[in-house]
Order: sequence, then C-alpha cells, then structure tokens
Amino acid sequence: MTAPRDRETMSCEEFQALLPELIGTGEDINLHPHIQTCELCRALLADLETIAEAARQLFPTVEPPDDLWDSIETAIKEESSK
Ligand SMILES: [Zn+2]
Repeated sequence: MTAPRDRETMSCEEFQALLPELIGTGEDINLHPHIQTCELCRALLADLETIAEAARQLFPTVEPPDDLWDSIETAIKEESSK
C-alpha cells in the first residue's frame, strides 16, 4: 500500500513519526496542516510540551532521556525566548 505523501492527509502515525524531525527544524508545529485538522495530535503535542516543561522544572540538571525530549525542550526554549 502506497499512501500519498500529502501532509494534510497523513495519518496520525505518520505525523507522530515526523514529530521529532519537525521539532528539529524549528518549524511551528501548531501551524502544521495535520495539527490543524487533528484534535488528537493537537492534544498530544500539548501534552508533550507540558510534560517536557514539567520535567525541565523538576529535573533541571538531568538530561532528557532521548533526542525527542531534547528536541521538545529546545523548541520550548526557543518559543519562550521570543
Ligand atoms: Zn493526528
């Protein structure tokens, strides 16, 4: 099965797989077409940001466990420094 690579019709699974990459590019994920149309992923992103922020406050000296957390933290820092 070959799904079209259309950003607006990508599945939640595809979008979530791309999420670390999207964060890494510094792109505003809230403007992503999938987020615009998918309440589920919008909630997921909000949760990730909330968790990452809470973890940063609770464990400021502990490195995030993987690249995703690191990317989320960087995105939040960039956002809060605007
Ligand atoms: Zn979705």
